[in-house]
Amino acid sequence: MNDFVLNKWWQRMSIDKREINHLIEENLHHSCPGAMESCVKITAIAGLPSRFGKFQVVAFQNDFDKKDHAAIVHGDIYEKENVPVRIHSECLTGDALGSLRCDCRDQLESSMKMLGEMEYGVLLYLRQEGRGIGFANKIRAYQLQDSGYDTFEANKALGFREDERDYAIAAHMLKSLHVKSIRLMSNNPLKIEDLKFHGVKITGRIPLIIPPNEHNSFYLETKKNKGGHMLDKDVEENFIEQEDDLVDYRI
Ligand SMILES: [Zn+2]
Ligand SMILES: [Zn+2]
Repeated sequence: MNDFVLNKWWQRMSIDKREINHLIEENLHHSCPGAMESCVKITAIAGLPSRFGKFQVVAFQNDFDKKDHAAIVHGDIYEKENVPVRIHSECLTGDALGSLRCDCRDQLESSMKMLGEMEYGVLLYLRQEGRGIGFANKIRAYQLQDSGYDTFEANKALGFREDERDYAIAAHMLKSLHVKSIRLMSNNPLKIEDLKFHGVKITGRIPLIIPPNEHNSFYLETKKNKGGHMLDKDVEENFIEQEDDLVDYRI
């Protein structure tokens, strides 16, 4: 047995073994009647030591569209109130490849670091590149932007909505994890409203502040000026959250 197993840190300060067993068992035959694409179930929970601290990763399987999602958990969030939560949409170019066209990786790393320093919290990693339109369409939008379109014009030219969010899956994941209420790490009031609409109890908000870089400042400006996103007074302008949400479902 290796040190990782012997230390058993996840049993002392995370979702414990008993709770893990309960969650797995409870989700084994889970299926939301009628809620086709928005139904997910927990299939596995494992320790995930990371450069941002000791986490656990929770795998969510979606039987309908085969898109598996993840929750990265710090501390014990089971049946807890006021849990800090960050919702992150997958961005291959930003998260994995370090692209500077967006601020996804900065958002991801900042929120993981913040969560790692908190007593408990969770990051929901939604596997919907470009909010469901997929990687290839996102790059098509980039190609249009390379020839002068701004991000909204590019999305429109491709037949996608400027901005439409649906956090049904995120709400479902929080419910599956037995999170009772959350403090959302977000600068976007629309996100808060949509989560409330899907039944999430929100008791607070934690601003997330990322400075723009020279490659994405126009992108972020566009989002601010054309996207109607409001920033709180205590958050400096130009500091806005993950932009992949812009590219969304077909009309
Ligand atoms: Zn369900
Ligand atoms: Zn991105």
